[in-house]
Amino acid sequence: MAEIMRITPAVTIPDHLLGQVQSKLAYVDEDIAAASISSDGTIELQLRNGNASSESLEEKVQRVVAEMAKGAMQPKVEVLEDHLGRKVPFASDPMSELMSRGELSLEQTGIYSFGPMVTRLIEVFESYFLELATEFGAKPQRFPTLISAEKLGRVNYFRAFPHSLTFATHLREDLDTISDFAEHAAHEAAGLNTPPESFARIQALLSPAVCYHLYFALADKPLPDGKLAATAVGHCFRYESNNLTTLERMWDFTMREIIFVGPMDYVLENREAARKLVAEYLEKIGLAYKVESANDPFFVGEFRKQSAFQNAFQLKYEIRAQLPFKNETLAVGSYNHHQDFFGRNLNITLPDGKPAHTGCVAFGLERLAYAFLCQFGLDSTKWPAPIREAFVG
Ligand code: ATP
Ligand code: ZN
Ligand code: MG
Repeated sequence: MAEIMRITPAVTIPDHLLGQVQSKLAYVDEDIAAASISSDGTIELQLRNGNASSESLEEKVQRVVAEMAKGAMQPKVEVLEDHLGRKVPFASDPMSELMSRGELSLEQTGIYSFGPMVTRLIEVFESYFLELATEFGAKPQRFPTLISAEKLGRVNYFRAFPHSLTFATHLREDLDTISDFAEHAAHEAAGLNTPPESFARIQALLSPAVCYHLYFALADKPLPDGKLAATAVGHCFRYESNNLTTLERMWDFTMREIIFVGPMDYVLENREAARKLVAEYLEKIGLAYKVESANDPFFVGEFRKQSAFQNAFQLKYEIRAQLPFKNETLAVGSYNHHQDFFGRNLNITLPDGKPAHTGCVAFGLERLAYAFLCQFGLDSTKWPAPIREAFVG
C-alpha cells in the first residue's frame, strides 16, 4: 500500500537547489515512488510498499541533502538571452493529443515512439542544425550507440553521473547458460526472471552523450591540424528514474551536437558564434526561451564541488524553452566548454604539446519538438512561416 513519509531536512535546502535535490531523491531507495519538496522545505516521499526501514531511509535522505546543500553558495545565474516574453499562440499540454493522434506512443516508461508529424518536425530542426554545422566547417560523423566502459572510466564518468548510467550486457558464452535462458526466460513484473550470474561482466554501456565518442577517437595522439569541428546525431541514454514521467525526461532520446576541439580561444569563439546564430534562428521562428548559465546534474558526492567549478568558469549555458501550459522552462539545448578536461584525460594534444580544449553545442531533438508543440500547437498550418515552409506535411 502506498504510504507517505515526511522528513524535515536538518540542513535547509536553498531555493536554487530544490530541483537538483528533488531529482536526486529518486535514487535514494527503490521504495520511493515519488519525491517532492514543499514550500516550507519538508520532503515528502511516496513509498511503494512500505518495506524500507524508515530509519535508514531518513538517514539516506538527510545524507543527500547535507552533501548537496551544506554550505552551498548561491551561484550567480548569468542570463545571456531572455525572450520568455515572446507571445506564442498555444498554451495547452500537447501530450494527450499527440497520443490520441498516434503521433506519440509510450513503449515503456521513458521509451517513446513518434509518428510522421513529429518525425518531420524534427527533420526540419535537423536540416537547420546541418546548415549551422556547415557554417563552422563541421564535418559529419557517425558514432555508435554503445560506449566503451574502459573509456568512460578514463574520463571519470562513473564518479560524476553513476545514477543515470545504462549498462549493456549479453549472456555469458556458456552452452548451459544460453540453453537455460532459451528455455526459461520470461518477463515478470519485476523484470526478466534470468539469474544475474547468466550475464557477462559489463564492457559497454549505452551512450549518455554524443561528443564523448569524438574525444575517444582523437585520444592519445596529436590533433590533426591543431583544431577540428564535427557534427553528429545519436541516441543518448540517461536513466532518470522516477523523473521519467513525460517527454521532458526520456530514458532514450536523441541529441544533435556540433563539437569543437582545439585551443581554448577557438573553442570559446565558436561556442559564442554558434550561440549568436542560434539566437537569430530562434528569433525567426519566434520561440519563447532564455539562455542562462547552468550545471550538469552531477551525483550527490560530486555535486557541490563540480557545480561550483562549472559556475565559476561559465562552462555551461542552457537554452531553456518556455512550456506555457505549466509556466516552466525546459532545457532544449546547451552550450558547453569542458576546458582541457578531455584533452588531459585522453591525451589529445595541440601542436605546442598542450592538451586540447573541447566544447559542444548540443540540442535535445525530442525536447525541442515538444517545447515547440507546447508553444505552437499541433496544427501545422498555424506554425511560424520558416518552419511551415520547411515542413513536408
Ligand atoms: P537536464 O538538466 O534538463 O537534465 P542536461 O543538462 O543533463 O539536461 P545536457 O547534458 O546539456 O542536458 O544535454 C543536452 C540536451 O539533451 C539537453 O539540453 C536536453 O535538451 C537533452 N536531454 C538531456 N537529458 C534528456 C532526457 N533525459 N530526455 C530528453 N532530452 C534530454
Ligand atoms: Zn557534448
Ligand atoms: Mg541541465
